[in-house]
Amino acid sequence: MQMILMTPGPTNVPERVLEKMKNTQCHHRTKEFGKIFGELNEGLKYVFQTKNPVLTFPAAGTGGLEAAIVNLFSPGDRVLAVSIGVFGDRFIEIGRTFGLQIDVLEVPRGRGVTVEEIQGALRDEHIALILTHNETSTGAVNPIKEIGEFMKDKSQIYIVDAVSSLGGSEIRMDNWHIDVLITASQKALMSPPGLTFIGVSDKAWEQVEKAKLPRFYWDFKKARRDMEKATPQNPYTPAVALIGAANEAIKMMQEEGLEAVFERHKKLAAYFRKEVEKLGLPLYTDENYLSDTITAIATVKGEEIKKIMETQYGIVIAGGQDQLKGTMIRVGHMGYVDQDMIDRTLTALKGAIEEVC
Ligand SMILES: *Cc1c(COP(=O)(O)O)cnc(C)c1O
Repeated sequence: MQMILMTPGPTNVPERVLEKMKNTQCHHRTKEFGKIFGELNEGLKYVFQTKNPVLTFPAAGTGGLEAAIVNLFSPGDRVLAVSIGVFGDRFIEIGRTFGLQIDVLEVPRGRGVTVEEIQGALRDEHIALILTHNETSTGAVNPIKEIGEFMKDKSQIYIVDAVSSLGGSEIRMDNWHIDVLITASQKALMSPPGLTFIGVSDKAWEQVEKAKLPRFYWDFKKARRDMEKATPQNPYTPAVALIGAANEAIKMMQEEGLEAVFERHKKLAAYFRKEVEKLGLPLYTDENYLSDTITAIATVKGEEIKKIMETQYGIVIAGGQDQLKGTMIRVGHMGYVDQDMIDRTLTALKGAIEEVC
């Protein structure tokens, strides 16, 4: 049985991308690689909607979060971070690991933060605001555009984890005044796991100059220096085949057009939620903060439903994470996803519900 990955990452990879990955076999200090990497770097600017360079490191998304921390801060720096779920908390934990003083703005699970709450919590002594765009553990979204409007003239660096939304939901790094924007290859970007991408604004580059935390592999300045060479490179051996794959996936997004990509995600998400509600299943997430890339459904029968969908229908979904285990199922609809995959998921979900409820 051909399995369909309706998880919030890793997601389905188009055949065209897999084929390109198989055929990307070259040495990383050649013109041939430089051409592919140079194209990827330009393509990333398009999907991030930024004029600034977007850095690529071979790593999971979590590596990208750590890279942001070690390049932007010094021990003892005070920041404000928003906790709306597992991934917001992970970013906080990474910051604490490196000795940051983090004031946490706690938001009830299932909803996002409001601009007013940020306004109430942000202080002059904070040098950054850190938050998650799409909280993959709860299906809730923080209003990063509105928050960006508020952050526009502030001194603080605005850092956003968009691992499970960039390339699916609308994000405009420059227009929305985001200073550091982090994502990974395996969610909405239709590529296999293994790469993290980080956009860095001019304001954030100034902060990098001041930051004193030690870094070697993650050094933003070295990464930028090498990607801006006449033959674009990475400081160390990059994941050559994955870079070939991601470049092809972004070409597909350019062919479809970013606006059409956003529209497809929005429509499929709305349709999926409507059909889930018709099945009598309650959403876990507050209706004012719904994600375009993932749906969290409240149920205590999650483990059984997940198992039936996987073994009988070949549809892989996810359960609740950490403390949220046993409270929900999560269905990813991001990246390489279409109406047919959504319909097959709904058929499987309906079958599973009939069996367990
Ligand atoms: C998946 C995810 C991550 C972590 O990505 P890994 O590649 O698993 O390390 C971070 N943040 C968010 C919002 C995610 O969805």
